[in-house]
Amino acid sequence: MEQTVESALRDAGLRVTAGRVTVLDALHSIPHSDADQVFRVVARELPTTSIQSVHNILADLTEAGLIRRIEPAGSAALYERRIGDNHHHVVCSRCGAIADVDCVAGHAPCLDPSSTSGFAIQSAEVTFWGLCGDCQRDAAQ
Ligand SMILES: [Zn+2]
Ligand SMILES: [Zn+2]
Repeated sequence: MEQTVESALRDAGLRVTAGRVTVLDALHSIPHSDADQVFRVVARELPTTSIQSVHNILADLTEAGLIRRIEPAGSAALYERRIGDNHHHVVCSRCGAIADVDCVAGHAPCLDPSSTSGFAIQSAEVTFWGLCGDCQRDAAQ
């Protein structure tokens, strides 16, 4: 059974508010979104919301471990609800499109560095870069 947004918030020790629920719902339908994109979706349901409150909610949810924040080079911080599986991302170097890439070996950290300098490795965060399908077609023309 999939956990409801409300019980996920409660389990994380956060109060259930319309803003938090709407932000989580928005990230479910548009993963890898930045704060502006989330704000536009949330504002449709909660017209009184502000971009600042969306930023605050995203920070709270990230800190509580309910969403993951990723920051590909050259991009605004992006947020997603797929957490805890150490998955990676592939980013289009031309248009910035982004997609999930499953963990390379199935479990964290999934990549073994040749040297860890004495660190105990917990996770690996990899960004693959390339051209998305649309940009490949454009480039071929
Ligand atoms: Zn592209
Ligand atoms: Zn992802």
